[in-house]
Amino acid sequence: MEYSKKNFSEWYNEIVELSELTDKRYPIKGMNVWMPYGYDLMKNIDEIIRRRFKEDDFGEVMFPALISKTMFEVEFEHIKGFEKELFWITKGGRESLEDDLAMRPTSEAAMYPMFRLWIRDHSDLPLRVFQIVQVWRYETKHTRPFMRSRDIHFIECHTAHETYDDAEKQLEIYRNQWNYFTHILCIPYLEVERPEWDKFPGAVYTRAFDTIMPSGRTLQIGTIHQYGQNFAKNYEVKFAREDGESDFVYQTTFGMSERLVAAVISIHGDDIGLIIPPYIAPIQVIIVPIPGKEPGLHEYAQSILTKITEFGIRVKMDDRDSYTPGYKYNYWEMKGVPIRVEIGDREITERTITVKKRTAKGRSKVSIDHIEEMKVFLDDVAQTLRERSLKILEDNLNGLKIQQQESQIVTKILCYRKECADAMETETGLTMMGHIINKGKNGKCEVCGNDGRTSLFSRPY
Ligand SMILES: [Zn+2]
Repeated sequence: MEYSKKNFSEWYNEIVELSELTDKRYPIKGMNVWMPYGYDLMKNIDEIIRRRFKEDDFGEVMFPALISKTMFEVEFEHIKGFEKELFWITKGGRESLEDDLAMRPTSEAAMYPMFRLWIRDHSDLPLRVFQIVQVWRYETKHTRPFMRSRDIHFIECHTAHETYDDAEKQLEIYRNQWNYFTHILCIPYLEVERPEWDKFPGAVYTRAFDTIMPSGRTLQIGTIHQYGQNFAKNYEVKFAREDGESDFVYQTTFGMSERLVAAVISIHGDDIGLIIPPYIAPIQVIIVPIPGKEPGLHEYAQSILTKITEFGIRVKMDDRDSYTPGYKYNYWEMKGVPIRVEIGDREITERTITVKKRTAKGRSKVSIDHIEEMKVFLDDVAQTLRERSLKILEDNLNGLKIQQQESQIVTKILCYRKECADAMETETGLTMMGHIINKGKNGKCEVCGNDGRTSLFSRPY
């Protein structure tokens, strides 16, 4: 690689293309091509999310990508919130459309008119659906692959419930799901309650999951929202209670996106390239045969590949004869494959393999009778990534210098008033992200002295 991770911005732009996750040359600003390696990574993440949602009783749906102006124009702050970000279709062939169509920026306006038809009485509740789709937002800021794009791979959950408490319980389920997803991705996070003036348009409240990037800036990688009855009242989503009385449903959402890939790249990568967490890696183990004097190298390597596959591990052999083993080591390290297996003369005679973890310098020998140990190696890599990234997040919170870069994170105890946040924003030159729920403590506001809580100030992407 040309750039060191110390130059995070340049490093990031270089690695996403060098490792063939994406091709940025598509001729529309902010819209990039998912290359097979990158799309496999995204799909592995999707699959973990999809499986968990289904276990938790969500139905998977696929709504049309277009939302009519009429559907959108329910008098509502939600619409105002998205006004500047919509892509509009105004023509069908040569004819102007009577009702302009927006490319979905998220799917509330698409789904809730249908929820209105689907939900009749309490026996239809809770309703839980999710979809994994593209959404489009006309981003005017500087675009960057996976972090800020105009064509976004999006994962959205929508639920409807009988009571506010039921909706609150749903948010607790989201939290458990999120814990699981981030455990697999080995990414630490802060749960931050966005201030009143920065919540999702139309929500009662918004909790964001922010992580800290190597540049010392924060990246929002997930959000959960309590909608109360706000959306239901606008879209007239009603149900009959057991006693026959009619009421509006209570709703929640949970959103994630390709930013999960951005976080994985940024948080785990190093000067050599990517390090992909084992359970989402497109290739978990790469076998590199080293030609020598012993006969039967290819057959031996092939038998190892078969054995590893039997344990459900995604393994590939690099038997290209136009490249040296050294070249292949560098290539697959740059691509972030968690485990490398080297096979040469010695391994053939000893009936062993040599194992190298992407996260450690040394190598280990494993007997071909104990190939199941590959699973332990994968677990080790994941555990190392978790420990490293958590330490970086905590060092950042404690104001320590990270990777030779000045952290741009400040925590202050603050109340809920905008005046106090404004005062602190002026003092720090950073943005008030909200109160930190999962870390930090209650205390007295450092501006006015009223009750407050540890709050996060940062420069968000
Ligand atoms: Zn205050």
